[in-house]
Amino acid sequence: MNVRLFVIFCLLSIATATYAEKISLVGSTVINPADGKVLPNATIVVDGGKIERVAMGKQDAATLGRQVSCVGKFILPGYIDTHVHFFQSADLFTRPDGADFNSVRPYKDEVAWVKSHLDDVFARYLRSGITSVVDVGGPMWNFEVRKKANATAKALRVAVAGPLISSVLREKLDLGDPPIVKIDTPELAREFVRKLAEQKPDLVKIWYIVDKDHPIESFRPIVHATIEESHAHKIRVAVHATELETARAAVEEGADVLVHSVIDKPVDDAFVKLLKDRHVILCPTLVVFERYGLTFSHQLNLTPEEQKWGNPEVIASLDVTKIPQDKLPQRVKDALADPKAALDRIKKTYDVALPNLKKLEDAGVTIAAGTDAGNIGTIHGPALFREFQLMKEAGLSPMQILQCATMNAAKLFGGETGAHIGKMENGYFADLVILNSNPLDDIAHASDIDTVMKNGVAYPADSILH
Ligand SMILES: [Zn+2]
Repeated sequence: MNVRLFVIFCLLSIATATYAEKISLVGSTVINPADGKVLPNATIVVDGGKIERVAMGKQDAATLGRQVSCVGKFILPGYIDTHVHFFQSADLFTRPDGADFNSVRPYKDEVAWVKSHLDDVFARYLRSGITSVVDVGGPMWNFEVRKKANATAKALRVAVAGPLISSVLREKLDLGDPPIVKIDTPELAREFVRKLAEQKPDLVKIWYIVDKDHPIESFRPIVHATIEESHAHKIRVAVHATELETARAAVEEGADVLVHSVIDKPVDDAFVKLLKDRHVILCPTLVVFERYGLTFSHQLNLTPEEQKWGNPEVIASLDVTKIPQDKLPQRVKDALADPKAALDRIKKTYDVALPNLKKLEDAGVTIAAGTDAGNIGTIHGPALFREFQLMKEAGLSPMQILQCATMNAAKLFGGETGAHIGKMENGYFADLVILNSNPLDDIAHASDIDTVMKNGVAYPADSILH
């Protein structure tokens, strides 16, 4: 039997492994981004859904359970996307507050579709090697999503925030359980946090939107009250704040997580120091900044991973030229009339956001990878590989990118689960991604996935969406 056939045979046989069975993955190169170590010819012993040990060299066969050859493979912790939204499908109709297509597809039909496709979304994340995600804001039914994911073997580990506490109103998203709630006074903010606390959210989320009618200082007392009340309930707070001064205000008020890059100007040394001193985690979410503009101007060029593993109905919807002219929102008409302007805006954003990421990474700020998947054109699951490309363009090394998507992302996930994911270490959950080629040679190999293991159960990658 040649080696290749043997490996294929063995990996298929992992798929039959049950949760309780002890198995050992023998002979692969193990990459542990947590300490930057690469172990050639290593053995990973998995028992009861956890990593019992990772060892090098010859092992006593009696201690290994069933052995599976993984020679030629590269094994690392399952990826973690720390910024997704389950209430959004990524299709064209999912944000009527940004582009209203109610006359083409009523938003209530969109929400019903989203709710009926959760298993599909979970599978698309698994296919992409993603074994945990953080939903940083959505309707109260987000807590049901977490419950469902926890009760499903072929699903993800899910951390959630409830509705976004916002400086602006988003009426078009409100069908009775709104994902975004405008809060006008500190007292109402405290009351809302107390209501959320009953659901045991992993995070409280603030949508700190600033414009000429909503200056930084007018919403700041609400940010202050939200964070103080959340911390009193031992809940961390994540803030959407994309301008330097808004992000600074959020962190000064005690924000634990920033869910976007700063995109309006270069970050200064005082800001970098503030993030370091306060141990703030920043999730750059670069991919989402290009997707609205590219979709609306009919220039969306999905990656091969997105085309293969994204939901085909979602992808088909993103062609705006299929919508009758008279039903196009003005924003889309404008984008179609001047596609170059959309590209210029994206370039302007990345010209600031990418160097900012590099500066924060070099300074030692904790960076967690995330995509904002679910927003129009940002595909649940494989969007993470476009995020990796952009992080590479910013100047991060493959090992740094993998750190952001595993160990650092686990910190953002938080809690008991967060303390047991994202590392190739004894006692951690056996959530693994098994690759055919070395991601340290080229981060593009991070999507060359052979098998995904979640909680000690292996899924051959090609079988996951079938
Ligand atoms: Zn988001």
